[in-house]
Amino acid sequence: MKDLAAALTHRRAQHLYRARTTVDAVDGVHVIVNGVRLLNFCSNDYLGLARHPDVVTALQQGAARYGVGSTAAHLVCGHHAPHHALEEELAAFVGYPRALLFSTGYMANLGIASALLDRHAAVFEDRLNHASLLDAGLSSDAQFKRYAHNDVAQLRTLLSASTSAQNLIMTDSIFSMDGDLAPLPALVECAREHNAQLMIDDAHGFGVSGAQGRGALEQFALSSTDVPIYMATLGKALGCFGAFVAGSEELIETLIQESRPYIYTTATPPALAEATRASLRVVQTESWRREHLRELISTFRGGAQQLGLRLLDSATPIQPIIFGEAADALAASEKLRAQGVWVSAIRPPTVPAGSARLRVTLSAAHSIEHVERLLCALENAA
Ligand SMILES: *Cc1c(COP(=O)(O)O)cnc(C)c1O
Repeated sequence: MKDLAAALTHRRAQHLYRARTTVDAVDGVHVIVNGVRLLNFCSNDYLGLARHPDVVTALQQGAARYGVGSTAAHLVCGHHAPHHALEEELAAFVGYPRALLFSTGYMANLGIASALLDRHAAVFEDRLNHASLLDAGLSSDAQFKRYAHNDVAQLRTLLSASTSAQNLIMTDSIFSMDGDLAPLPALVECAREHNAQLMIDDAHGFGVSGAQGRGALEQFALSSTDVPIYMATLGKALGCFGAFVAGSEELIETLIQESRPYIYTTATPPALAEATRASLRVVQTESWRREHLRELISTFRGGAQQLGLRLLDSATPIQPIIFGEAADALAASEKLRAQGVWVSAIRPPTVPAGSARLRVTLSAAHSIEHVERLLCALENAA
């Protein structure tokens, strides 16, 4: 076994030590940490639904009715009516024949790869894919190939050279640390040309992208035949917890039969499925949340550009500010914190070396004044 103490000391010296911050209480977009009230710009609660009264009530009523635990895996006796209803509602919302709930997005990605890829297959992934997608490909039996970020030409070259019986392309639709979009229409085209399957992870688009929040397919006017495997999480814009995969009848049945991260785990609490159903209704009825979010994004970008900050080409609620060195990103994060604003620093290996950043995330729960406070704090920190 490696020398744990030495490895931890080395990590600290590199400014790569990770520490958790304990949130004692939440008050809207503010959190209380060590008795200090901080304006929060690091959550993935893009639509502000984690504390929506309808969602909270649905969880409480669900618990009163179904208890807390589901008591077993889905294939034993853990699959309850609220799970089933939620799956049908999710499938209808994103425009697929069926959907299947997973406990987490990480497990959903592992579950897709483990069920669909064998040693005769090859998997192709964007270099900046979320760690769970990369882990899914790496831990499968398939040949693993990475292409440069959004480089469809390189992907074409790799696919042309592939001798595998089955080729699967896996990509984030919105990249979680950069906030930019995958070129989905070009990827659909490329998959067609090479008879490959295309899977997208829409963790950051579901609920947010498209006028109705149906996600990446709505945004790019694509169909379920263009993107046969769709995955999204329920812990981000929906403000709940868990994930789902949407696809054909055969895909979903295959996952039920063969996906080990689906089969060998306890089903999520039925009350949570009730809360998620309530959240999905709010996504559909309160479209002002998406409109307001877009306004916040443009206010932030306009202000940050005036301050000369280094932004990335992102039109999404994920708005990174690049600092380069881990120590600089950390120092900026601490200066904001001293002003009552919380933006976490993201360092390697989560992002490539030399691209440490502050990852600002905006939420429909923020007001324009909140964004102005952030800009003011950034100006003071510069
Ligand atoms: C958050 C995230 C996941 C993991 O989802 P969890 O439900 O948090 O496990 C997967 N993919 C992407 C792109 C994500 O951002």
